[in-house]
Amino acid sequence: MEKICVAVRFRPPLPQEGLNPSPSPANWRIDDNRISLHSPLGTPISGVSFAFDHVFDDTCTNLSVYERHTKDVIQAAVKGFNGTVFAYGQTSSGKTFTMKGSSNDPGVIHLAVQDVFRNIKLTTDREFLIRVSYMEIYNEEINDLFRPENRKLQIHENLERGIFVAGLREEIVNSPEQVIDLIEYGEVHRHVGQTNINSRSSRSHTIFRMVIESRGQEPAAFGDRTEDAVRVSVLNLVDLAGSERIAKTGAGGVRLKEGKYINKSLMALGNVINKLSDNGVRQRGHIPYRDSKLTRILQPALGGNAKTSIICTVAPEEVHVDETRGTLQFASRAKRITNCVQVNEILTDAALLKRQKMEIEELRRKLKGSHSGVLELEILKLRNEMLKSEQEREKLAMELEKERKSREQRDSSFEEQQLKPFDDIPQPGQERCSDMAPEICLSAEAYDRSNGTPSIDNSRTPRTPYHGDVSKVLVAKRFHEAALPECSPVPDDFANVADEDMWMRLNKGHSTIDLDLLHFTPDVKHFSISSRGAIQVQSSIEHHKDEMNALRLQLETALNSKTELEKNLENQLSLNEQLMLEVSKLQHEALLVREYPQKIWDAVAELKDIYTNISSHAEVLTSEQKHSNVKFLSSTCDMGVSLFEALANHLLLMTKNEGAYPGLSIQEEFKILSEKISQVAALAKASNIVDTSKEDLLQNCKILRTWSLHFGGCFWLAFALIMCITVFMCLWVPR
Ligand code: ADP
Ligand code: MG
Repeated sequence: MEKICVAVRFRPPLPQEGLNPSPSPANWRIDDNRISLHSPLGTPISGVSFAFDHVFDDTCTNLSVYERHTKDVIQAAVKGFNGTVFAYGQTSSGKTFTMKGSSNDPGVIHLAVQDVFRNIKLTTDREFLIRVSYMEIYNEEINDLFRPENRKLQIHENLERGIFVAGLREEIVNSPEQVIDLIEYGEVHRHVGQTNINSRSSRSHTIFRMVIESRGQEPAAFGDRTEDAVRVSVLNLVDLAGSERIAKTGAGGVRLKEGKYINKSLMALGNVINKLSDNGVRQRGHIPYRDSKLTRILQPALGGNAKTSIICTVAPEEVHVDETRGTLQFASRAKRITNCVQVNEILTDAALLKRQKMEIEELRRKLKGSHSGVLELEILKLRNEMLKSEQEREKLAMELEKERKSREQRDSSFEEQQLKPFDDIPQPGQERCSDMAPEICLSAEAYDRSNGTPSIDNSRTPRTPYHGDVSKVLVAKRFHEAALPECSPVPDDFANVADEDMWMRLNKGHSTIDLDLLHFTPDVKHFSISSRGAIQVQSSIEHHKDEMNALRLQLETALNSKTELEKNLENQLSLNEQLMLEVSKLQHEALLVREYPQKIWDAVAELKDIYTNISSHAEVLTSEQKHSNVKFLSSTCDMGVSLFEALANHLLLMTKNEGAYPGLSIQEEFKILSEKISQVAALAKASNIVDTSKEDLLQNCKILRTWSLHFGGCFWLAFALIMCITVFMCLWVPR
């Protein structure tokens, strides 16, 4: 069990446009982690003194808030614990500043992203896969900030994934810079607007989410059950929109509507916090998470298994003292909540890391040999595409399931309709049972056949309808014993529910506000399909026929759309196959890239042997005949041999991927080579056997040197080789 960490942060006083002088500050006093309100004379005001985990004054930077208050949550997330950090407070109190920060004082989100990657780097014994998503809740609708056309997304829950937003785009990322770019892209699509107290007021709640999957690098011992365990943790970084008083923000029109939604969802959050802090963990009753999208999404973080840290931001001005008190009351309630944090280890295939493991390992192995950044990028792209196609598949499967359910419903109502003529149509001269008081509804079994008198059935037990001789008896229809479903406590329409009064109650810290008092969903009414005995048999049959036809048509449409969905699914699967083919093509290419140096090395070694051969022949000839041409031949062959040797060594080391060549540096080798060429040229000139002058050769050497400096060892050796062969050919051809 672990308590939620709560801190309070004061923002510096802000000069307000049109207000001269600026609003005076209230007399808040900070003493270590305590905060209290004092009167202008300095006496403490009773009931306005609170203690938190941290209280940050207006000189504090985002970095110190992060280091002292939220770092633990982020580091735990890398270890497999779910984590949530959110900023709460009235509008313009500094929530967005705390979470997003500025260019010279980056906020919690940026610092957390950097920290996650830093921690991953330090955790060398595990491999990680990180995906991120970014959503906003605007007017109680969930929008995808990474894919703006994804709007009005729905929240689902299942055993494998817990609570999740279906259809939300996730991106696999491998560097903090990539994440920051994505966040900036998402920010552009967030709803912000101008109000009297904040020129860039956040009009929506945003949730930036990182899903961190990891698994051990070392193969586990045989039979170890944790062999396949993958840790999957979710880190939510939330920037809430602020509660606002319509009178202060001066909101109207669209802003007013937004403000109502914002207040409403914050009130739902307040209610959840109140309920959680009221009850002990063991006797937690119903917690109204479903009252808003925000609380539903944050459910695992509030009273669940996440490490949670809340930063309550407050404004220091006297004019905001009521709001500040409200925020502090919220904070002190939140401080009482305990969560049951635990590492999330899963053994099923739900972990993406596990599913992609095989392909990735294979590609990584191939990549190790080559230095191709392009291939790395290609793999990241492929991974993202695989994730996307999985999400598409999931969406299609969900649609298919929905379609199947609605078809089942239609089928069953169709069957009911088919049965109805027997139930509903009154026999001539007979009253419909449903038109009568329940007390005189008789079941077939209740009819006393021995004396032909009907007996009253008081037990109200449901019975099988009797289809025997019904001319003398009244057949009881089915009893509707089951109570009608309760009305949903969640209002569908959030307009007109969060007004000024409600805001006051919210911010003055009233413990529980019953949403049902604010909005009443009308009762569901149940209608009988037939018109209660007044309809003639014929018209009723016609009516049912029409209905049957309509249902048949609906069924056909449903079947068509099902076929279409199945087709889509098939397409998706073939796309997956194509992707897999591309992956294997890449693997093949990587294999070829690795083989090239080996092949070149073989060729060079062969050439070296040829040169050595020529050189030894030339040596024999030199000693025997002392022919000057043979001398040149011998010395050029020597050069060739040494060049090929150096080239072969370079290549061998490259194939083994052992880094730099430990022998002579390129420049030194060049120096030796150019000296040798000079000697050969001088000898040639002295003997008068070649036209090429020594100066020309030296000029060539200079060019060669420049090229070598530009292109490095391998290129230089190749050029040197060409030059050497040229010189060799010049010398060898007798004049
Ligand atoms: P909120 O998100 O709570 O509505 P903002 O974060 O937008 O409020 O802050 C309102 C204004 O106050 C912004 O101009 C912001 O730069 C400034 N501000 C807030 N907190 C601080 C702080 N700690 N230091 C400096 N400026 C701040
Ligand atoms: Mg904001």
